[in-house]
Amino acid sequence: MKLINGFQLMEYAKKYNYVLPAFNTTNLEMTYAIAKGLMDANLPGYIQISSNNLRLSNPEIIAKIAADAVKKSETPIGLHLDHGKSFEDVKACVDAGFSSIMIDMSHLPFEENIRESRRAAEYCHFYGLPVEVELGALKGKEEDVVNEADCKTDPDMVADYVERTGCDTLAVSVGNVHGLCLDPQIDIPLLEKIYKVSKVPLVLHGGSGIPKEVIWECKKYGLIKINYGSDLRKEYIHTFGEAYEKDHNEHDVIHLSIAAVDNVAKRAQELVTMINEH
Ligand SMILES: [Zn+2]
Repeated sequence: MKLINGFQLMEYAKKYNYVLPAFNTTNLEMTYAIAKGLMDANLPGYIQISSNNLRLSNPEIIAKIAADAVKKSETPIGLHLDHGKSFEDVKACVDAGFSSIMIDMSHLPFEENIRESRRAAEYCHFYGLPVEVELGALKGKEEDVVNEADCKTDPDMVADYVERTGCDTLAVSVGNVHGLCLDPQIDIPLLEKIYKVSKVPLVLHGGSGIPKEVIWECKKYGLIKINYGSDLRKEYIHTFGEAYEKDHNEHDVIHLSIAAVDNVAKRAQELVTMINEH
């Protein structure tokens, strides 16, 4: 298959009651591993890359690798920009062939945030791509910014924010955290409140560490997408670290990279299967 348009991917998920995992890639190996994990599970989802990671990997190259990685897929897979931090990044990813976009203007004052998010959303909509925005902030490491404050999504702001940004999905802060150092405590009643006032489906960042029963519960309240970064990255690094621990002269990058792809793919397969077991 070709990479699938983000609107079509969400329609597919709604039709079959799937929640879509979005796995963060970093490089060639991670991209192939994520695609393999989804294909082995035969379940839909996203490969995604953050604005921060674009400093390492050119969006055009990642788009080419992703398109190649999903060529033999029989399940729909999208390519998503995670935490798009500037209009330039958004534009570069749309132009490169990404199939959906997240706009994160949280570094700007609120009104400017809305204005810039809307501008980027209009650009994406011109090309028929859906847009994710985030209201509230997550504890933990959000890209290079470490958020100390617990800034949960305020349900009273949701309808207005969704309307004014023109977004198609909303990432929420309901006790989910970035990274593996904090314990996520998902506030289901808050999620339910948000769900009732949001006319777009909801997204959870920081999926690593959230128990499956909680995710199944979240599905009742509009959850369509859940992000996994740390879980797969840990698997990738672990492969190399373990080999180095065993032998400080280890230098077989090829076999270790192949092993890392297999290990990451296995974890991605486990996760996408787990969240859709129910
Ligand atoms: Zn995030």
